[in-house]
Amino acid sequence: MSPSNDRAAAEAPETAFRPAIDAHTHLFPERLAAAIRRSLSAEADWEFSHPVTRPAIEDVLHAAGVAAYVALPYAHEAGLARELNTWLCEQAASSDMLIPFATVHPDDEDVAAVVRDAFEAGARGLKIHCPVQECRPADSRLEPALEVVAAYDRPITYHGGTAPMFEDNSYVGFDAFAELVDSYPALRVCCAHMGTYEVEAFLDLARDHDSVYLDTTFAMSTSAPETMGFDPSSIADETFVELSESIMYGSDFPNIPYPYRNERAGLLARDLPQETMRDLFYRTAIDYLGLESEPDLETAAETDSGQLGL
Ligand SMILES: [Zn+2]
Repeated sequence: MSPSNDRAAAEAPETAFRPAIDAHTHLFPERLAAAIRRSLSAEADWEFSHPVTRPAIEDVLHAAGVAAYVALPYAHEAGLARELNTWLCEQAASSDMLIPFATVHPDDEDVAAVVRDAFEAGARGLKIHCPVQECRPADSRLEPALEVVAAYDRPITYHGGTAPMFEDNSYVGFDAFAELVDSYPALRVCCAHMGTYEVEAFLDLARDHDSVYLDTTFAMSTSAPETMGFDPSSIADETFVELSESIMYGSDFPNIPYPYRNERAGLLARDLPQETMRDLFYRTAIDYLGLESEPDLETAAETDSGQLGL
C-alpha cells in the first residue's frame, strides 16, 4: 500500500462519523469548570488538558465533524440551578452548535418552576447526576420536575450507573434506574456511560423499552480499560446493530483525560453497517432529543433561535 493509500485507509472511517451529534458534553462557567476538574482529579487521579471555554470546545468538536453538541450542566447543591441554566442558555444563544440541557437540584425551592423556566429559556432536556446530587433517578423530591419534563415531552440524561467510582452508592445502579422506568414508562431517559458497570442489565432494559437510551460516553472510548476498568470489546458489534436506535454517541468532552478522538476511534474501527453508524453518531440523538425533523444543522444554526430551528 502506498503512503497515500495508507492515509486514505486511516481517514476512511472518519467519514462515517460526520456529521455527528455529541449527546454528552460539559460546559460550565470557568471557575466552576476548574472546581469540577479539581474534584475529578482528586478522586480519579485524572489529568485534563482540553480547553473549557465554549469557543475552544467548539473548535475541537467542529474540527472532528460534530455538527451539534448537548451540554449537560449539574448543580451540586441547592440554589445554583437557575443561574447555571440561565448561563448555559445564554451561551447557546450565541452558538450555532450548542444544545443546552437544564439542571435542577432535588433540594431546590420549586423544582418544577426551575425546570419549566429553563425549558422556556431554550433548554432542550434535563440532566440529573445521581451520585453528585445525592438522589435516586425517581427521587420523590424530583417528581414535580419529572412531571414538567413529561408535559414538555423532553428527555432526561442521568448519570445513573455505578461507574467509575460509585459501586457502593445507593443512588445509582440498575435497580434504581429500573424503578424510574417503571414509574415513568413514557419518559425518554438515557443512562450515560452505557450503564457501566451493569451493562448487560441496562442493554436488556433498552431492549424492553423504546424510551430507554444509553450513551457511549467514556465507556466505549479506547481509553476505557485504563480510565474506568471497562473493556469496550465486551459489547459485541451485533449489540450495536440490534440496539442502534437506543444507543447514541457521547464523549464527556472536555473532561476526559485523553484525546477527543479516542471517544469515537473504537466505534469507527468496528465492522458496523453504515446505517448503524448513522444511528449511533447522529439519528438516535435526533430521536432522543425530540427534534421534529432531521435538521439541516448548518442552515438551522442560522435561524433566530440559534437552536436547531426549535
Ligand atoms: Zn458527563
